[in-house]
Amino acid sequence: MIRQFSLSILVIAAVVCSALSAGARQTATGSIRGIVRDSLGAVIVGAEVSARNDATGSSRTTSTNSEGRFTFDTLEPGNYTIAVSQTNFKQAELHSLVDPRRPTVLEVRLEVAGTREKVEVGGKGGVAPNSESNYRHLREDGELETYAVNNLTIKRDVGTITLHSGHVSFVPPVLGRVVRGVFVGSGQFTLTPAISVERNYLHRMIEKDAVDEAFEKAVFCFTDQTFDEIKQQGQPSAGEPRARDVLNDFHHRVRTRPESPRSLVEYLLTYEGENVDAEILADLFNPKRDGFFTAYFFGRNFNDLRYYVRPRGAIPQMLAPEEVALVHLDPAGEREGIWYLAHLSTEYQKGTASSDEDKRIIDVQHYRIETAIDNSGKLTAVAELTFSPTVDGDRLLSFGLLPNLRVTRVTESDREINFIQEPKKEDASFYIIWPDALVKEKQYKVNIEYQGNKVIEDAGGGNFAVGARTSWYPSVNAFKDRATFDLTFKVPSRYTLVGVGKQVKSWREGDFAASQWVSEVPLAVAGFNYGVFKKKELQDADTKYVIEGYATAELPSYMRGAAERAGGAMTPAALNQNAMIDAQNSMRLFTLWFGEAPYGRIAITQQPQFNFGQSWPTLVYLPISAYLDSTQRWMLLGGISSRFTEFIQEVTPHEVAHQWWGHIVGWASFHDQWLSEGFADFSAGLFLQATEKTSDKYLKYWDRQRQNIVEKNQWGNRPNDAGPIWMGLRLNTYKSQGAYNRLVYPKGGYILHMLRSIMYDRNSGDKQFMDMMHDFVKTHFNQNASTESFKRVVEKHMTPVMDIDGNKRMDWFFNEWVYGTELPRYRLEYTLSPEPDGKVMLKMTITQSGVSERFKMIVPVYLDFDGKLVRLGEARLIGNSTTPEFKVKLPQKPKRVLVNAFHDVLSTEDVSQQK
Ligand SMILES: [Zn+2]
Repeated sequence: MIRQFSLSILVIAAVVCSALSAGARQTATGSIRGIVRDSLGAVIVGAEVSARNDATGSSRTTSTNSEGRFTFDTLEPGNYTIAVSQTNFKQAELHSLVDPRRPTVLEVRLEVAGTREKVEVGGKGGVAPNSESNYRHLREDGELETYAVNNLTIKRDVGTITLHSGHVSFVPPVLGRVVRGVFVGSGQFTLTPAISVERNYLHRMIEKDAVDEAFEKAVFCFTDQTFDEIKQQGQPSAGEPRARDVLNDFHHRVRTRPESPRSLVEYLLTYEGENVDAEILADLFNPKRDGFFTAYFFGRNFNDLRYYVRPRGAIPQMLAPEEVALVHLDPAGEREGIWYLAHLSTEYQKGTASSDEDKRIIDVQHYRIETAIDNSGKLTAVAELTFSPTVDGDRLLSFGLLPNLRVTRVTESDREINFIQEPKKEDASFYIIWPDALVKEKQYKVNIEYQGNKVIEDAGGGNFAVGARTSWYPSVNAFKDRATFDLTFKVPSRYTLVGVGKQVKSWREGDFAASQWVSEVPLAVAGFNYGVFKKKELQDADTKYVIEGYATAELPSYMRGAAERAGGAMTPAALNQNAMIDAQNSMRLFTLWFGEAPYGRIAITQQPQFNFGQSWPTLVYLPISAYLDSTQRWMLLGGISSRFTEFIQEVTPHEVAHQWWGHIVGWASFHDQWLSEGFADFSAGLFLQATEKTSDKYLKYWDRQRQNIVEKNQWGNRPNDAGPIWMGLRLNTYKSQGAYNRLVYPKGGYILHMLRSIMYDRNSGDKQFMDMMHDFVKTHFNQNASTESFKRVVEKHMTPVMDIDGNKRMDWFFNEWVYGTELPRYRLEYTLSPEPDGKVMLKMTITQSGVSERFKMIVPVYLDFDGKLVRLGEARLIGNSTTPEFKVKLPQKPKRVLVNAFHDVLSTEDVSQQK
């Protein structure tokens, strides 16, 4: 699976901060303010709003302004009925308490009149999103309570905050707990990494082994004892006048969602739209949770530095079980990145830190989703999720749903369920607020209705870009755990929809084509492709797999001009068969090497994107460029790099291999994604070796993979210098852009390639390696593998030659290649001399260099007999050293003697020289 981040320039519209009265004067009256939106989140201007005091019957009326907002000030405390109406919308009625201590804040959604046939229980409207009262109180700050502080220290895991002097102003309690404070004054934040891999990473980012940052402003959000800690050591004080501005600035930072993310960090923190208030609410609702602490520093050198200590996972948007993180957000800056991401330091002390820690809150077992797509590409859907909580007492559930898809209603049986989904340009993640505490392992069902656009985009010529591949439905733990799916789609009948799983039914409904897709084998993610496709199908007797091919007759619009200028009518569907044959050969080969795949079917489908492919279980998206022959590509692009041609050759086997690497066997955390991408790259290499007549392409493939790893960028950095592949996506930094793709893929591939070489046996060939791979798939079938669990499989299958340390462990290998960054060089010097008996004496030495003294490797030597390479044996090398002279009597004279001839070891240089 390739995940791409579009890197377009973000234009942040000037956001007008909501006008909050900062007055601290006591008052006996209260206020109501709110915003009125339609079901898609757009504000409604000029709606009539009335507020009636239920006790006195007195009523006031106003209308929404140009931002859809309304306000009622100086209201008597008590219960009110608020009615909102606008032409063409159904009237909405809400009940709310006016409390003089804090403003009542409402968000009202109006349904378009006549769109919903369903009669609501009691005749009232459904629950308005974002209307839950505790959530509303978290969204607004209310009156602040201020304490003066002096040399106060807050220590949380590896981070220490010292408030030298200044004031902390707290917002009022919600559900009896104070959860947010603003500091203005003089403070210092320091962090010393708990583990060396993080210290090294930090050093790459800021050229220091620890963080030491001064700040004048900071916001703390917490559900731990922070309030009591500060209150006890501080002195009650008059308000700090700047606190309100800092809070507003903070809200702007965490509540603004960019149109497209410019960096991984921005993608994780703001584009994926974590709702800070919802995350706080989750803890308030479940007192059994360990409290969290987060600090947002407006630092002197680093203006947006965020420190997280969260037992449920520091960065929820990342597949990472780690609880502690320090993130610097600065998308255009050189030092942006996740500076620190580690387990609690106590876990390292106790030796319990593990990538396999389970941070899930619920486990979805089954999704039943009915989706309709209309002629304009708008998607309307109802999803029923069957799930079980993995913990007790939670009420807030988070889903991966594209913010453009607006939730209109959530129900459980006939019960309306409250939910949170802020407008799509804000912190728009979707959460459900369950009415009562969820019980661990009990089974629940929930229905979610949503609609919107931007899931599919018409690319012309019957081609559609299907985006939002994990968020077109309310996914939970996508890629992390598995569920069965029952998917029904209704689309305009001229289009073909290709789903995951197996098609069990298709029928017509007027102008719509309907189809139902069921997966009995649990899948980690579900999706579909869409277009005016021509379909082909073949049955492979060897693998008992059905291989389907879907391609369009016409090019997408953006390519048509170039195709016409090149003078050619190009029909992608003409190459459908080729893609299917490559897929068939890949399936056969990988079944042989890794074991049977369970799905029974694979659809090879064309997507309009030119330069990447993607793989979902049973469904492969190939780039349109894979449906052009080499002449057409040449004509279209006016010449083409050989690398692109090679990418086209490798993309089909790579994506087919993801059926095993990523789907049958998933990855446990971001550290372990090399088990997916690297293994898929290794598999593409196998494909070249098996399908090409000579080993030429295969050797070039590994040479090119090596180039990717060691080629310097404009700052003189090699991808390999960005850090160990275990750092996954964090390898991408300002000075090592693209290092994730240029390292995790090829070096991950090399790691398997090296194991294959080390396990090779002259008698049994690759059998030992293949046995290991079969076992790896079998023991992780429909589960996630971690680097550690893969290592255990390697150790189970290790051969005597691999036991360099004599302890039946592969630590030496994993420390060097997975957790390390060293790359060796090799030099072989040899002589060949005739013996009296007609045979030939080979004498040779091998030198390893460029490494540390403890670096160990097993390096094979080959004999070249007229172009045919024969493996002579292998040398074991430790540190920068030269072997003693080997002597071997050969039956005949080889043309050459070669070290590392199959790129068996990832090295920066190999020299083989006859003296
Ligand atoms: Zn991939």
